[in-house]
Amino acid sequence: MNYLIRQRKKDKKNEYLFELAYAILRDIDEGYDAQILTQIFEMKMLNLLGLYPVMDRCAICGETEGHFDFSSASDGLVCHRCFERDPYRMHLPENVVKLLRLFYMFRIDRLGEIHVKPETKAWLEKAIDTYYDEKSGLYLKSKKFLRDMSKWSGILEKKDED
Ligand SMILES: [Zn+2]
Repeated sequence: MNYLIRQRKKDKKNEYLFELAYAILRDIDEGYDAQILTQIFEMKMLNLLGLYPVMDRCAICGETEGHFDFSSASDGLVCHRCFERDPYRMHLPENVVKLLRLFYMFRIDRLGEIHVKPETKAWLEKAIDTYYDEKSGLYLKSKKFLRDMSKWSGILEKKDED
């Protein structure tokens, strides 16, 4: 019985992963920014890796209003009132923190057009890399897989031409 429950949980995880990957690939195919989609995928993958950063309030004091930074040490958002309590926070620009929050929280099927400046993308990549590095032992394996995913869009296009 335990085995069955475990198996069902596993199936659900795989189903979620498949649906997520499918949605991302479809969006890449439709011309959405592959790098941004990969970053959305990376944020959404965290739960599957057993990571649950607090992204809807300050991870230290619980406040929902204010200026926010992101921190692996506090495992989520840190508000300006708590900046001094977390010397390891990432010092991210506020728009980058907002995007991280958006990528983590929103439903992928509600994706509208997102235009992100190259420098913001670089910040996002740095923040996500840092978080994966510091929090996840699965970093290398999953990261390579995710980064390679942006190359898959070409595969779908080729299939259409056959
Ligand atoms: Zn706080």
